[in-house]
Amino acid sequence: MTFRTIMEPFRIHSVEPIRMSTREERSACLEAAGFNLFRLRSEDVAIDLLTDSGTGAMSRDQWAGIQRGDESYAGSPSWFRFEAAVKHLFPYEHVIPTHQGRAAERILFSQIAGPGKTIPNNTHFDTTRANIEFTGATAVDLVIAEGRDPASEHPFKGNMDLAALELVLETADVPVVFMTVTNNAGGGQPVSLENLAGVRALCDRFGVPLFLDACRFAENAYFIKTREPGQAGREIEHIVREMASYADGMTMSAKKDPMANIGGWLALNDDELAERCRTMLILTGGFTTYGGLAGRDLEVIAQGLEEAVQEDYLRYRVRSTAYLADALAAAGVPVVRPTGGHAVFIDARALLPHIDPLEYPGHALAVALYREGGIRACEIGTVMFGRRPDGSEEAAPMDLVRLAIPRRTYTQAHFDYVAEVVAYVAAQAEELRGLEITHEPRQLRHFTAAFSPIR
Ligand SMILES: *Cc1c(COP(=O)(O)O)cnc(C)c1O
Repeated sequence: MTFRTIMEPFRIHSVEPIRMSTREERSACLEAAGFNLFRLRSEDVAIDLLTDSGTGAMSRDQWAGIQRGDESYAGSPSWFRFEAAVKHLFPYEHVIPTHQGRAAERILFSQIAGPGKTIPNNTHFDTTRANIEFTGATAVDLVIAEGRDPASEHPFKGNMDLAALELVLETADVPVVFMTVTNNAGGGQPVSLENLAGVRALCDRFGVPLFLDACRFAENAYFIKTREPGQAGREIEHIVREMASYADGMTMSAKKDPMANIGGWLALNDDELAERCRTMLILTGGFTTYGGLAGRDLEVIAQGLEEAVQEDYLRYRVRSTAYLADALAAAGVPVVRPTGGHAVFIDARALLPHIDPLEYPGHALAVALYREGGIRACEIGTVMFGRRPDGSEEAAPMDLVRLAIPRRTYTQAHFDYVAEVVAYVAAQAEELRGLEITHEPRQLRHFTAAFSPIR
């Protein structure tokens, strides 16, 4: 008999208090923060779904790793444990540790990108795009059409559009093709093995290397196991190694699936490029056996990698995210389908059709979720993407609110609470009003802009 209840596959060993606040207190916090949720104190948040990056709970064995960490400058045992754990899943020749994913991106693109180059991806994550553009190169997103349609039920909405990729490879100067697994910016949607093989074949034809942005590789492998024909009987580790086998290297943030609070790496097979990247690392991050991390961080990542591919964990992870999405859908809240691995995305433009995109329906919803229930979510819409370089504004393709789920951190009762708050806010959707921006920086305005409600 398989029971329906999703039981968390862990017991709680150490607890963090959640401070309960009143609606009046939260209204005052919003005023003080200029209605920007990034400017709140996290202690004033009850359920923090701003991001799943570095916010997960570590296991007993990861905390033990903190104690075991060896802080030798060069050649520490913690480094060798880290390197072996990475190579066990991603058997690339060279592993270069970094303090975050974006540091790996910066090192790689400083060596291979530059003016005149074009780098395709299914969808570039914002730091990936920014690091490419910083070198003067062009970043293009080539996800399949279904990946841009919130309602499409395609099982692999992160797949690359192979015909579009072929065209770019024929016409542009492409130093590397990237594939982001899962496709974070596109809703945490997975990429199939079949599509990876197709991208590989094109890269072979044009003699171009393929790299993975592998931040959520384990969730992607679990979706392959449960959705791709012929994969159900395979172990997650084997699927991960097959994913890795199509690529020549990877960039990685250990703050995602590896369940660490900090860290990342760059891995690759090309000896000459690896040497140049290591030189850059020493210049800007640290020596090649720690890369800006402490030995104890390397232990935590090595242990986290083992835990990330355990099927009990992944089943719980993916099903608990779907549990929240299904509860919202049942309450009539429009959510992006199918549910991805790390987050639930609410279609705020559909929920709040009376708020013009330039009055930020996603942001209005995120502010209301905080005011009513102390839930912090993240607008992914016109606030984040609507400002053009010349300072003018246009509506983003979608106005979404992302509820990102930290790993192993919240229980089913927390999800029930979130669903109840969202349903309560959605029931009063007509009363919500938009906001205007009273102050904004020139770039990445969502982090620091100040807003005022339109009365
Ligand atoms: C988080 C993330 C990054 C950047 O990693 P950081 O550790 O935040 O620097 C790159 N790509 C994807 C897909 C991510 O989710």
